[in-house]
Amino acid sequence: MTPLSADDRSQVLHDATEQFWKHVRPIVQIAFAIHILLFGAFAALHIRPLLIGNLVSILTYWVCLIAVRRRRFHLACHLMCWEIVTHAALATWVLGWNCNFYFYMFCIVPILAFTFQNAPVQRLSLSVAIITVVTGGYVGRRMMGLEYPLAPALLDAFGLGNAMLGTLLLMQTTKFSVRYTRSMHYHLFQRANRDSLTNLYTRRRILQRIPQLAPGRPLAVLMLDIDHFKRVNDTHGHDQGDRVLQRVAQVIGDSVRLTDMASRWGGEEFMVLMPDTSLEEARQVAERIQVRLRDTAAAGELQVTATFAIAQMRLGEDFLEGLKRTDQALYLGKQQGRDRIMVAA
Ligand code: GH3
Ligand code: MG
Ligand code: MG
Repeated sequence: MTPLSADDRSQVLHDATEQFWKHVRPIVQIAFAIHILLFGAFAALHIRPLLIGNLVSILTYWVCLIAVRRRRFHLACHLMCWEIVTHAALATWVLGWNCNFYFYMFCIVPILAFTFQNAPVQRLSLSVAIITVVTGGYVGRRMMGLEYPLAPALLDAFGLGNAMLGTLLLMQTTKFSVRYTRSMHYHLFQRANRDSLTNLYTRRRILQRIPQLAPGRPLAVLMLDIDHFKRVNDTHGHDQGDRVLQRVAQVIGDSVRLTDMASRWGGEEFMVLMPDTSLEEARQVAERIQVRLRDTAAAGELQVTATFAIAQMRLGEDFLEGLKRTDQALYLGKQQGRDRIMVAA
């Protein structure tokens, strides 16, 4: 495979980052909401340092959401990650290790790993900061939470609430990351296996599918080649030619069953793969397409005809051999005057 150029690599990262943040954006909104709740809690408990810290956090998330909307993803990631690390450190210092504020830091690991994949310094400094807060907090746990001692029941409530919310946030971030990966895979699969003009399958997908079909089961193919298509281009222009191809593809797509695979085999040539189909059934499909093409021509929409060839694959026959037979029948159909359905010998 040809290696990607620097421009292509940067385009890939740009597109991927945009998609990734589209998926993880709700995490920023949830974090924003959590800080509003915490603000209320700290105000009720008169814990001044955390109240001020929380106010800064709320403002930070507000700027962060604006940054995401303006596609400043690196800035958004910086703001969010440093807010969570600083807030975890401050809350652990003020209320003690048992409050479990450090749990929130874990949910940013997938986000920073993705966003800073090409920024090793940022990635490393944030990773070190997270590890420092976790280990430092644990080691110094007996020296923390002395200034604002909370009642044991309240401390337990904070510990439980934070452990639960922090873990749920991590699960949610992971879920969004998986959803992002899956949506990218679907997108790439579509791009690789669907023709961009007609949205029918590509030759690549058909050839990939062939060996996966159950051996020994009946298999029929239908080939269709638009007649005198060059004239359409020459007379009406290439753009009109493209529209004709799209319309013919639509007719084919609408005329086959869900189990059939309609593809654009090349230029103005189409192929339908029909598993578990007899020659007679294949002929019916071809006739259906032919009738619909004529109907659209009669409606003044499409002034094209097509030549068809159908074939039943023989037991043990190589698919490409069978296709060659079909192609020969198609060629014969062209010679005999076009606009007809041929059956491969
Ligand atoms: P025949 O009846 O013998 O099939 O004649 P034809 O003119 O259809 O066949 P020929 O192979 O001579 O020409 C095919 C034309 O299809 C030539 C090519 O420019 C055109 N073509 C191939 N792909 C596209 C496309 O994506 N868009 C457009 N507009 N034209 C295309
Ligand atoms: Mg043609
Ligand atoms: Mg052709």
